[in-house]
Amino acid sequence: MKKFTKVLALVLAVVFVVAAFAACGGKGDTIESGKLIMATNAAFPPYEFLGEDGKIVGIDAEIAQLIADELKLELVIEDIEFGSIITGVQSGKYDIGMAGMTVTPERLENVNFSTSYANGVQVVIVKEDFAIKSIDDLEGKMIGVQEGTTGHIYCADTPENGGYGEDNVTAYSKGADAVQALVAGKVDCVVIDREPAKEFVKANEGLTILATEFTNEDYAIAVSKDNPELLEKINAALAKLEEEGKIDEIVNKYIPVNE
Ligand code: GLN
Repeated sequence: MKKFTKVLALVLAVVFVVAAFAACGGKGDTIESGKLIMATNAAFPPYEFLGEDGKIVGIDAEIAQLIADELKLELVIEDIEFGSIITGVQSGKYDIGMAGMTVTPERLENVNFSTSYANGVQVVIVKEDFAIKSIDDLEGKMIGVQEGTTGHIYCADTPENGGYGEDNVTAYSKGADAVQALVAGKVDCVVIDREPAKEFVKANEGLTILATEFTNEDYAIAVSKDNPELLEKINAALAKLEEEGKIDEIVNKYIPVNE
């Protein structure tokens, strides 16, 4: 009987210690402040854009809201330059960066990425009647891109690395500005992610997307390397939401399957 009491005491002690650890919730400020602060650039439809009432909406905003709900945190979305997202997350100013952001080896040097929740493809937008018929015709043309994006990085790379060289690239702070430059004839084409490209083509007459796709990429959520616990929780939330079909539901709402 005595032995049984001892074992019971030991089991209770272990349970207590585990519970105490769980209650602490880890070192992240995120948990203590009760907020999940997300940096994005709300000019990337359908992933993030300004809705009618000026609120940031889109696939990323909705997925982030469900993740915040899972983590029992209040979601706060900050609209900043795309090129400042990684450094902002790195410095701890923002808890997460979510902006149709592609996982790249360079970015992985500075932040961690969650598991991927969507695929991205770079495409080329041209004027319908223009001479560029395939990506082989891009050489020597002026390519419009969005500053700091993977489209910018690939296109500005040297020809030996599959790029077109910096002199052939003009970078704009927003994808929409690059598209306006195309409409105005300041650039010959725009290299950008496919889903926003489709939205931009819909919104501007006389534009079309080349059939050739440029690259295939994974979109994921950037988290500071100092907060591995938050990364783990986000991955667990993503896995649960995916299993429940919630991610597909959101994606299908914004990107109808037959489009
Ligand atoms: N997927 C691209 C990148 O990560 C573009 C993202 C964006 O413009 N919001 O660079």
